[in-house]
Amino acid sequence: MKKHNFYAGPAILPEFTIKNVREAVRDFAGTGLSIMEISHRSKEFTAVMEQAQSLFKELLDIPEGYHVLFLGGGASTQFTVAPMNLMQRKSAYLNTGAWAGKAIKEAKLYGEVEVVASSEDRNFSYIPKGYKIPEDADYFHITTNNTIYGTEIKEDMDSPVPLVADMSSDILSRPVDVSKYVLIYGGAQKNLAPAGVTFVIVREDILGKVDRKIPTIFNYRTHIDKGSMFNTPPVLPVYAALQTLIWIRDNGGVEAMQKRNHEKSSLLYEEIDRNKLFKPTILHEDDRSVMNVCWVMNEEYAELEKPFLEYATAKGMIGIKGHRSVGGFRASLYNALPLGSVKALIGVMQEYESKA
Ligand SMILES: *Cc1c(COP(=O)(O)O)cnc(C)c1O
Repeated sequence: MKKHNFYAGPAILPEFTIKNVREAVRDFAGTGLSIMEISHRSKEFTAVMEQAQSLFKELLDIPEGYHVLFLGGGASTQFTVAPMNLMQRKSAYLNTGAWAGKAIKEAKLYGEVEVVASSEDRNFSYIPKGYKIPEDADYFHITTNNTIYGTEIKEDMDSPVPLVADMSSDILSRPVDVSKYVLIYGGAQKNLAPAGVTFVIVREDILGKVDRKIPTIFNYRTHIDKGSMFNTPPVLPVYAALQTLIWIRDNGGVEAMQKRNHEKSSLLYEEIDRNKLFKPTILHEDDRSVMNVCWVMNEEYAELEKPFLEYATAKGMIGIKGHRSVGGFRASLYNALPLGSVKALIGVMQEYESKA
């Protein structure tokens, strides 16, 4: 039976990526060696790293003055590395969920943190609006896609202070006006590569403005100067990331990804709104994530939650159980997820409705 992979992360990757990684594990670039057993300083791998950085720049139309880094440590390491590098005295954060909360906690280690707004009062089911960004902050930090709750900031906002974004779960799902940000980072395991590599897009002129001593390994400067080769980079995940970037390019770039992602999420939200068994958790359409669609049972069918999950799983719908802090269901519709998987899920939802 065909499996439809709706996991939130690590998550589905293009078949193109899996196929080329499988080949490189066997024989990398005609070297007769596996990608897992070759020097990161070899000319073959250096070419991979350089291509991945330049293709990332090409796909997101990243302006001059920015660098793309591939590091270890995950987005969670960036929660602490970002303030370490950018925060002299004060920073501002938007609290849109558990990941934003973790970023806030780390920033507090380095100075004053102003939380400009929070949607915690309604379990992070909306994106706060109408807040004021303090002009004396060194930067303003947002989480563009809230993977757990299914909310998303889909437009690049104007900020009076340098803008920093965790884009772990919506990077490369849409065009981004990178010039509005000084720093964008994320774990690659949602929309780009297997776990183990973290992407960082940093505007060079924002660095060098803090007084504190920054450990060499946590200093963005180090990795810019060494082209992400200061220490051993995660070789296999970087190779996989390059394959996904090539796949995005060959499939129409981020504009085409955005169009496809919209098509997928609109179909699923429509079904959740229509189906008598279910209701969406995010009520404002503007706030609804294109990447992670969340829904719960309507009250009168609450007892069918577990049976529906079992039914859907038996039909090959994998990874649709909602995060424990939200309950219900979550389907992640990352770039690599085919439209056919969304249609199959909708088919299962309709079948189950007709039995209930
Ligand atoms: C998954 C996720 C993280 C955590 O990423 P790690 O690479 O596991 O540290 C952070 N932020 C967001 C928005 C995420 O979805």
